[in-house]
Amino acid sequence: MENFDILEKLKQGNETYVKNVSPELLQSLTEKQNPYAVILTCSDSRVIPEKIFSADLGELFVIRVAGNTLNEPQLGSVFYAVEHLNVETVVVLGHTNCGAVHAAATNCEESLLLPILSEISASGKTESETELCCLNVQRCCDILRKAIHSENLNIYGAIYDLKTGKVNFNI
Ligand SMILES: [Zn+2]
Repeated sequence: MENFDILEKLKQGNETYVKNVSPELLQSLTEKQNPYAVILTCSDSRVIPEKIFSADLGELFVIRVAGNTLNEPQLGSVFYAVEHLNVETVVVLGHTNCGAVHAAATNCEESLLLPILSEISASGKTESETELCCLNVQRCCDILRKAIHSENLNIYGAIYDLKTGKVNFNI
């Protein structure tokens, strides 16, 4: 697809969205939001929290970055949702076949990727990319637990399976 065609596709997609979205819902969310969960997950095009959790506008506070890593802006985003939007549930959602985890596991050295890959590598040494994915999620959960202190806050790690569409919360 040419770039022009892609822009057209995006414009048409937005027109379709505007045609189908509930005006009442848009109106109710114009001045405020009250999401019930934060999802920190990967930018991967196959991992879309609103679809995975059957959620609508205003329901999930989503932070997406390759490898669902936790650098300062992501940490600040979680903090904002917890402190200012009173969200009490945070999910760090890794996924199978993650390109960022693969890049970290294979010692990719592209400089612009290093801030992401060094975070993933810091979670542990293992031959298994599946295990590294879990370690990365668990490390993010630990960092969040140490950094954000809020009385009723629950932080969960989970892995989304690209093949089945299921989220495993028991990692
Ligand atoms: Zn990924």
